[in-house]
Amino acid sequence: MTVTVRFAPSPTGFLHIGGARTALFNWLYAKHHKGTFRLRIEDTDRARSTPEAMAAIVDGLKWLGLDWDSDIVYQSKNQARHAEVARQLLAQGHAYYCYCTPEELEQMRLKALKEGRSMRYDGTWRDRDPKTAPAGVKPVIRLRAEQDGDTVIDDLVQGQVTVSNQQLDDLIILRADGTPTYNFSVVVDDHDMAITHVIRGDDHLTNTFRQCQIYKALGWTVPRFAHVPLLHGPDGAKMSKRHGALGVQEYQKLGYLPAALRNYLLRLGWSHGDDEIISTAQAIEWFDLDAVGRAAARFDFAKLDNLNGHYIRATPDDELAALALPFVEEKAGRSLDAAARERLRQALPELKPRAKTLVELAERARFYVAQRPIALEPEAKKLLDGTARARLKDLHGALEQMVAGPQWNAPHLERFVKDYCGTANLKLGDLAQPLRAALTGSKASPGIFAVMAVLGRAESLGRLADAVVPPPG
Ligand code: GLU
Repeated sequence: MTVTVRFAPSPTGFLHIGGARTALFNWLYAKHHKGTFRLRIEDTDRARSTPEAMAAIVDGLKWLGLDWDSDIVYQSKNQARHAEVARQLLAQGHAYYCYCTPEELEQMRLKALKEGRSMRYDGTWRDRDPKTAPAGVKPVIRLRAEQDGDTVIDDLVQGQVTVSNQQLDDLIILRADGTPTYNFSVVVDDHDMAITHVIRGDDHLTNTFRQCQIYKALGWTVPRFAHVPLLHGPDGAKMSKRHGALGVQEYQKLGYLPAALRNYLLRLGWSHGDDEIISTAQAIEWFDLDAVGRAAARFDFAKLDNLNGHYIRATPDDELAALALPFVEEKAGRSLDAAARERLRQALPELKPRAKTLVELAERARFYVAQRPIALEPEAKKLLDGTARARLKDLHGALEQMVAGPQWNAPHLERFVKDYCGTANLKLGDLAQPLRAALTGSKASPGIFAVMAVLGRAESLGRLADAVVPPPG
């Protein structure tokens, strides 16, 4: 049997983080078992499904690197098939027409409310002759659900879960307007797509009991189920926006790397010993459902940040430069020319160890890629008084004359500037701070000689020359 799983989002909103984890678990399960991972968009709720949400789901999955096999299935396109199967059940006596009016159903609901139980359809039309149907009422089709015994799910995460069939009523499978209901569509599609394992959030457990009854009535093989506990915030409460219940694309905008988010989501509810950093290749090798925990996993931004920092450090510079570029350009407010890109690339060894996100990295990269004359922070401006400017002017001249291109590296520059200070009877501190202000526009930066090396000779000398000219006004 080839494992076939699916991710089946309803496109009524963005791909949220819980959905992304469900998709990841399905994807990993398929990869681990050399099976198939399908994407089915459950767009039967036409009023609430939007093209934007569909695009966000597809883009979110692509960004996360969760590629699916064969074409996307759009559930709404299968409605004729759903209706056909409903009629097949009708013909076999496993379903029946129900002519209850909305008023009658309301009465049933009120009665249940009074008796303090949840509403169950009372089976009015289960054994009634359709010939006695009232005129003008369009019927729905209901499943003739098993009434005796239990429905048992042997869940791959939750273990055995049982519900008495008396708790389940005859659910509607086809509405009066001929459209299928949610649970029914899911069963028909899962069967037609040959799904062997349904991995989804445990909020679907109650649906699963009903879906099992539909499978039984149709005589179809029931897939294996795995209901994964939902995500909670760090405080244990249900995930909300405050906790990070954002769309996947928000994480992209916040500067997380797909590999880091994959690793983080994997560890939310699944474990492999004490391993925290798990590459995708390892995850594929190790992932199985028996290591999915039963307790709700807690989402924690601090952990995600730490993992992201790790992945940033582990990304080769060329690749990281490409990933960071849009963030850097957004902060800079312009697209970078080749020279600025090169400075960004050269600055990465300095930037990488400190940044937890690409947004942070871009913030720190700002002064490297800035255009001349660079903006000076007030504190930096203050440092560049008349005395400092005169010193920098002199230093500029010395550097220009004595340090050629091939010598423009951090150790050489450090030696040169130190010697220069000795000759000029200055303390390094007298020069280093104005130098920093002139080159970075700020009072604080990484080591100034490393900065000079990254900026390169022409840019460093240019920035120094800019600072030497007294500011206007
Ligand atoms: N469409 C459902 C949802 O977005 C998922 C259904 C399923 O996985 O069976 O919650």
